[in-house]
Amino acid sequence: MLKDFFMGLSQNQFLNNTAKKYGLKMGAQTVVAGTNIEEAIKSIKELNAHGISCTVDNLGEFVFKEEEAEEAREQILKVIEAIHKHQVDAHISLKPTQLGLDIDYHFCLNNVKEIVDRANNYGIFVNIDMEDYSHLQPTFDLLEDLSLEYENVGTVIQSYFRQAQEYLEKYRNFRIRIVKGAYKESEEIAYPDKKDIDANFIKITEWHLKNGKFTSIATHDHQIINHIKEFVKKNNIPKEKFEFQMLYGFRKDLQLKLASEGYNFCTYVPFGKDWYGYFMRRLAERPQNLNLVAKQVFNK
Ligand code: FAD
Repeated sequence: MLKDFFMGLSQNQFLNNTAKKYGLKMGAQTVVAGTNIEEAIKSIKELNAHGISCTVDNLGEFVFKEEEAEEAREQILKVIEAIHKHQVDAHISLKPTQLGLDIDYHFCLNNVKEIVDRANNYGIFVNIDMEDYSHLQPTFDLLEDLSLEYENVGTVIQSYFRQAQEYLEKYRNFRIRIVKGAYKESEEIAYPDKKDIDANFIKITEWHLKNGKFTSIATHDHQIINHIKEFVKKNNIPKEKFEFQMLYGFRKDLQLKLASEGYNFCTYVPFGKDWYGYFMRRLAERPQNLNLVAKQVFNK
């Protein structure tokens, strides 16, 4: 119920637009690393100092106007320049709908290409985040088209999809981030039960660790993390072949612990004015995250 409520809020265009005008509110500042590039770079430097690398998301999605998509592209190019200028350990995560996927495929491809090209000049990797099912195939198409010219690009596979293993096998030669999946999908295509999603997460992660290129294991779930730690030890999977990832502001102690144990660790650092949809999805997937909000409201 609560999940559906926050999911509905995350897609409300009016609230999304209103939130942009008002800076970080409602506790979002704990999980969003500021509204501008300077603030994001400061957070990245702090994480780098603990041996943690970062993937930076200039927040935004569901863009339907060309000017907005172009503005997002220019902003991401500035992030790439800032990563290079400050020589921080960070790469880019981007959402195709922010760059115009809902407007026109080739318009979006050209926007993403410009970003991947600039990042490639500096040896910076670009991850194409995976959104809801209606954007899944065009996102894989973007990946394939970009890979004709570039190697510094990869994407995400969501374990809630019944076909996740098939996608994984098809895209095994890419650097892949594995997640449970954050959108509301129909039972026909996605497992509705947490236990099936978790079991599939473990199954496809093990497969990719053994057969694929670099694997980013993106979860806050300590049971899955502990299982994978045992699996890599037993199967002699070198630490260079994978990393753990978590979102900025979540389970900070566990993030630091994994990094201090010598695992590659990467924090997903979202920033920007368009924080509302991202923040609502975090509340939807774990209503306990409301505690974060309560703390912000009362600890003034
Ligand atoms: P959950 O299933 O939410 O939690 C499992 C268990 O872990 C909980 O029961 C609890 O015991 C523990 N736990 C979880 N969070 C906490 C906490 N804060 N404190 C204490 N215990 C906790 N989704 C997409 O659809 N597309 C993407 O491109 C995408 N990229 C992502 C990138 C990163 C780096 C991460 C971490 C997630 C991304 N996601 C993405 C979101 C993902 O799909 C899940 O919705 C989200 O991560 C929640 O699932 P979980 O695996 O973290 O664990």
